Amino acid sequence: MKKKVLACLVVLTMVGIVGSDAAFSAAKQVKCSDCKGKGGTVIAKNVICTWCQGAGKKTLSATDKMAKGTLKSTEKCTYCSGKGKSDQIEMCYTCMGTGKVDK
Ligand SMILES: [Zn+2]
Ligand SMILES: [Zn+2]
Repeated sequence: MKKKVLACLVVLTMVGIVGSDAAFSAAKQVKCSDCKGKGGTVIAKNVICTWCQGAGKKTLSATDKMAKGTLKSTEKCTYCSGKGKSDQIEMCYTCMGTGKVDK
């Protein structure tokens, strides 16, 4: 009966996708009363970003079939905006982090 679990950052990415989907079907949705429409609660501020481990950037690698090799690039961490730290959010599972629920 766990209603809320500690959201990992992968889940937060999913929330972004769900959130954009929700925008298309927002007509019959109402604000989630569990999280007051926020989609989750900040449980810790300025914790080390788990995506970049506090580095503020990520090394991406992708296999390029045309070049027959592996491309590597360093990108600023989008989750923490390169700060290396971010707020830890406990996602609301009533609304799946969207802040809205179906009526
Ligand atoms: Zn909610
Ligand atoms: Zn980061």
